[in-house]
Amino acid sequence: MADRSTEPGHPVYRDMATTIFEKMSGLARETGAINLGQGFPDAPGPPELLSAAADALLNRSNQYPPMAGLPELRAAVAAHYAEHQGMDLSPQEVIVTSGATEALAASLLALVRPGDEVLVFAPLYDAYLPLIERAGGVARVVRLTPPAWRITQDMLEAAISSRTRFLLMNNPVNPTGVMIGEEELALLADFCVGHDLIAICDEVWEQVTFDGAIHCSLMAVPGMRERCVKIGSAGKIFALTGWKVGWMCAAPPLATLLARAHQFLTFTTPPALQWAVAQGLGKPRDWFDLQRAATQASRDRLARGLTDAGFAVLPSAATWFLSVDLRASGIAMDDAAFCERIVHDAGVAAIPVSAFYPDDAVTHLVRLCFTKSDDVLDEAVARLAAFRQRALASTAGGG
Ligand code: PMP
Ligand code: GLN
Repeated sequence: MADRSTEPGHPVYRDMATTIFEKMSGLARETGAINLGQGFPDAPGPPELLSAAADALLNRSNQYPPMAGLPELRAAVAAHYAEHQGMDLSPQEVIVTSGATEALAASLLALVRPGDEVLVFAPLYDAYLPLIERAGGVARVVRLTPPAWRITQDMLEAAISSRTRFLLMNNPVNPTGVMIGEEELALLADFCVGHDLIAICDEVWEQVTFDGAIHCSLMAVPGMRERCVKIGSAGKIFALTGWKVGWMCAAPPLATLLARAHQFLTFTTPPALQWAVAQGLGKPRDWFDLQRAATQASRDRLARGLTDAGFAVLPSAATWFLSVDLRASGIAMDDAAFCERIVHDAGVAAIPVSAFYPDDAVTHLVRLCFTKSDDVLDEAVARLAAFRQRALASTAGGG
C-alpha cells in the first residue's frame, strides 16, 4: 500500500465525498428538478418567529451573547421540555449551539477519548461516523433493516466490547421516520445502565411526530437522567433549517465538559436568532399541534399520491420524510441508480437510503421530503408516476 502519511489533510477527510444532501441539492439546482431530497420546507417559516428575529436584530444586542447561550433561551428550552416531555431540566443544564450538528460535534469532542467505542445504528445520519472518528473514537455499527427496523438485545450484545463507552442514537429516526417505542427505549436504557454507557441522543425530530404520538426522550427513562446528552434543533421544531440554532442538555458534570468543547468550536450563536427561538419555544401547545397537523397533511398527500401511482410507500410516524420501496413498486433499479435517473429524467431529486449505511447497505429504498406546498408535491407525484410507467414499459419491452 502506498504511504500516504505525507499527504496533506486528516485521513478522515482525505477521501470523503461531499454529503449526499449537498450533492442532490446541487443537482436539483443545476437541472431545475423539484427537490424532495435534502430535508427543508419550501415555506418561509412561522411569521411570528421571523418578526421576532428581525425585531431582535434591530433593537437588541448584536454582540457576543454569553457563551452557553442567552439566559432567555436556556430557560425556554428547559421550560419547553417540562411542558412537552414532562422533563425536569434546569437552564444551567442547557448549552446553546449553532445547530444540532455543532451539538453532536461538541458532545463527541468533549466526551470521547482515543480508542473509545461508540455504538450507532445504521441507517445513520451522515455526520456521525466522521465526527466519532475525528474525535478519536471507533464506531460500532448495529445494522437495522426494513420494514420494522427493530433493535434487539442480541444485536446490542453482539456489538459491545470492554471499550464501548457511548451509544449515539437518533430518535425519531432520519431517514426511516420511525419513532423508537417504549419497549425499545427501556431495552436501550437497561443496556446503557448495565454497561455504564453514556447516551448521546439526537432528538432533533422530537416535535415532528404524527397521528397523536408523543416523543419520549431516552433521558426521561429511569436510570438515564445523569448519563444522557439530549440534543435538539430549532431548525426542525420551527421549520427554519438555515437558522442553525440548536442545543445540548445534560446533567451538570457532563454539561460543563460540553460547554468546554462548544467554547472553542463556535463559542456563541447569533443572539437575534436565539431570542426569536426563545419566544417560539414558549408558544402554547396548540400552536405546535397545528404545525404537526399541517406536516402530517403533507405526509398524507405525498403518500396517497405515490400509492395511487403504484408506488409502495413505507409508513412514516415522524420527521419530514417517507420512503418508497422500489422493489415492491416493481422498479428494477437500486436506490442510487434510481435517484440519479429521476433527477435527470423525471425532474425530481431524492435521497437513496443506502447513503445512510457505511457498508452492507439496504439498497431498495428512496427517501422523499414532504414539507413542500401541495402543488409541488402533486407535480412531483405526476413526474414520478410518469417515470414509473416508462420504467415498467422498458422492463417489459426490453426483457
Ligand atoms: N441530526 C439529524 C438526525 C438530522 O436529521 C439533522 C438535520 N436534518 C441534524 C442532526 C442537523 O441539524 P442542524 O441543522 O440543527 O445542525
Ligand atoms: N438533515 C438534513 C436531511 O436529512 C440535511 C442536512 C444537511 O444537508 N446537512 O436532509
